Amino acid sequence: MMTGEQYIESLRNLKTEVHFMGERVANLVDHPAIRPHINAAAATYDLAFDPQHADLGSAISHLTGRRINRWTHIPQGQDDLVKKVKMLRAVGRITGTCFQRCVGMDALITLYSVTHDVDRKHGTGYHERFRRFLIETQDRDLLSGGAMTDPKGDRSKRPHEQHDPDLFVRVVERRPDGIVVRGAKMHQTGAVNSHQFIVLPGQALGPEEREYAIAFAVPADADGVIQVFGRQVNDSRKWEGTIDQGNPTYGVVGGEALVVFDNVFIPHERVFMLGETEFAGTIVERFTGYHRQNYGGCKSGNLDVLVGAAVALAEMQGTAKASHVRDKLAEMAHLVETMYSGALACSYECTKLACGTALVNLLLANTAKLNTARYYPEVTRLAQDIAGGFVATTPSERELDNPRVKAFVRKYYQTRPDVPAEDRIRLGRLIENMTGATPFIEGMHGAGSPQAQKVVVQRQIDWAERVQLASRIAGIPSAPRH
Ligand SMILES: Cc1cc2nc3c(=O)[nH]c(=O)nc-3n(C[C@H](O)[C@H](O)[C@H](O)COP(=O)(O)OP(=O)(O)OC[C@H]3O[C@@H](n4cnc5c(N)ncnc54)[C@H](O)[C@@H]3O)c2cc1C
Repeated sequence: MMTGEQYIESLRNLKTEVHFMGERVANLVDHPAIRPHINAAAATYDLAFDPQHADLGSAISHLTGRRINRWTHIPQGQDDLVKKVKMLRAVGRITGTCFQRCVGMDALITLYSVTHDVDRKHGTGYHERFRRFLIETQDRDLLSGGAMTDPKGDRSKRPHEQHDPDLFVRVVERRPDGIVVRGAKMHQTGAVNSHQFIVLPGQALGPEEREYAIAFAVPADADGVIQVFGRQVNDSRKWEGTIDQGNPTYGVVGGEALVVFDNVFIPHERVFMLGETEFAGTIVERFTGYHRQNYGGCKSGNLDVLVGAAVALAEMQGTAKASHVRDKLAEMAHLVETMYSGALACSYECTKLACGTALVNLLLANTAKLNTARYYPEVTRLAQDIAGGFVATTPSERELDNPRVKAFVRKYYQTRPDVPAEDRIRLGRLIENMTGATPFIEGMHGAGSPQAQKVVVQRQIDWAERVQLASRIAGIPSAPRH
């Protein structure tokens, strides 16, 4: 296993092509826009060595018997799934933001079982191939980006109906030693600081879409992999100072990129599905199940930080004892624990797949993510309510050193003689950055837009059974069909 520092150093050996603000990034490890996200990812490495959390941060590989980082582990039962959620909350509390590594973890978990299922149906050799890849990933403790979301073009059209066939990642050439792929994946969390990508289809596919039914792994710095790093609200503050960033060490959300595959060669050894269209839907269903489980873990950890900021500000501002503030804080805590409960529930209610991997309860996992999409904004709204308007209007941190105005800023932003104005400003900036557009949108669309979870909920519920329950109690002899 690597420490956080070793992980950061390992990135220096890559030749990853990243573009930001109109130019190629020469040194991404030390780039002010990127480094906070790297620090957040490094926390997933350090957790394995943290005596308080080592049991959460690491696990024993079921393939080798060796101790590995849990972010590369395949859950073997309920205990592993519960620890996954607790690990996510623990790191969420350390970083106060997204630490990126769960997308690749869920891609590994998903492919482990789906390759097994494909082989059973088609007699292919994907699973053995994938196990070799997994052992290498575990032993080298690699960070994998999980690449699922295609650009998708016109949402009313299927992949093969788009005006440009590259709007979904596809095979453009089959060679004796491998395949050549083209396309792109959008919104890739932690992509610029990943060692490799695991690329999966982003939706169910029909028989005419064989060239899109591909799963593969590729080094992040392979020829033809080009990344364009996205902007965030307030990101220029990263090269202006520290206080105004709110969370200068770990940043805001995961740092997302557009990842382009411009005719990239993938050797057969790294291809884990090629044309088995009927399994694309299985990949999406399992991946999103595991990924939606996470949201009740990591986001509850992040929101623990936000709740703490709201409590501290209320204390500083003399409102902590007001009954409405106490009520709002209790409401925030209640919503956070509700999100967490769903993640735990889907883990406890797991089942076993044919290959031995534990699968979360899909109904509960999707409910957990829906709760997150709904409650995250509500918790942030309450934090903003308690904090007050200064969160939106505070002058730049540079005014704290501006000789003409610094005394005025410090004087008028101070609420109590025993608390420096700067402390209040720091908490306000933390709340501002944690409740801004980027984290807000991540809680909504990350792991799929809310409607995607509703679809699974609709599919998983036995409606007829519920009608029967009501009909029996109401004394209606023949229940209407649903
Ligand atoms: C911060 C962040 C991090 C992310 N990280 C990753 C990552 O690491 N890896 C990854 O693969 N993805 C990642 N994603 C992508 C995420 O999974 C997608 O944003 C999500 O699935 C929604 O897809 P979309 O953004 O293309 O929006 P759309 O799919 O366009 O959805 C927008 C709206 O249109 C609706 N809609 C979509 N299609 C249809 C249709 N056919 N008919 C009717 N309505 C429709 C949706 O319900 C929604 O209301 C990330 C997203 C964010 C915001």
